[in-house]
Amino acid sequence: MSLVNTKEMFKKAYAGGYAVGAFNVNNMEIVQGITEAAAELKAPVILQASAGARKYATHTYLVKLVESAVIEHPDIPIVLHLDHGPSFEVCKDCIDGGFTSVMFDGSSKSYEENVEETRKVVEYAHKYNVTVEAELGKLAGIEDAVNVDADKAQFTDPGEVQDFVTRTGVDSLAIAIGTSHGAYKFKPGQNPQLRFDILKEVSDRLPGFPIVLHGASSVPQEFVRMVNEFGGKMPDAIGIPEEMLREAASMAVCKINVDSDLRLAMTGSVRKHMAEHPDHFDPRQYLGDARDAIKTLVEHKINTVLGCAGKA
Ligand SMILES: [Zn+2]
Repeated sequence: MSLVNTKEMFKKAYAGGYAVGAFNVNNMEIVQGITEAAAELKAPVILQASAGARKYATHTYLVKLVESAVIEHPDIPIVLHLDHGPSFEVCKDCIDGGFTSVMFDGSSKSYEENVEETRKVVEYAHKYNVTVEAELGKLAGIEDAVNVDADKAQFTDPGEVQDFVTRTGVDSLAIAIGTSHGAYKFKPGQNPQLRFDILKEVSDRLPGFPIVLHGASSVPQEFVRMVNEFGGKMPDAIGIPEEMLREAASMAVCKINVDSDLRLAMTGSVRKHMAEHPDHFDPRQYLGDARDAIKTLVEHKINTVLGCAGKA
């Protein structure tokens, strides 16, 4: 199987009441950990690269790493997706350069500009069989180049979604219902809430249409403890409760983004390895542990949150 776009994947996910995990990739160990887990559980998977990832690893390395995963795991569908494309040009670069799906993030623009620029990306992408995700509403938090203060965050207005999807021709839509980017989504003692009423109203207005959740890491406390126990300092890192994500996946949400959890798993396991083996200096030893931790985390997500095991 070669790389695929999200069309069939989301159609099946919507009908089946599950979601596909979209995991951010930055290097070989991350790509391997994610795809080994997905292949063993026969799960479809989306590997996504942000503008920051393209800057860090370069476009060519990312594409070739993901293409290698496709060769290693021919039995599962794999999407290579651009996360938070900031402009038409960046989206075009990725479409021309082997990505099978792109997100154009016009959420910081006016509604009309968002419509106009999303439509332009869709027109170009569809010529090459590439699917497009757009965003309505504004998530709080920090992710690479995206940084929105909590007081500037905005829930998606369900009244806008039909007009937006019709006029842009977009294939999926990221909405803001209370998730946020980063590892500090809620304050200690705060009761995490997602606006399921908004999700429900959006899906009533867009029957059968795939919805995307960004900022959906659950921030597993075992990894937060591991980071803090072995010399790190991440006080009060809190994510979205897994039951809420599972609930969203059973509704119209077909894609759940996970980045912070991968970072935590990797950092926690590297810190632990370094602390327990002060004599080790072979990167394969601690990066091997990091890869194992990522694989375990992704298996857990597939089984517990996404529900997409056996759906490849
Ligand atoms: Zn995001």
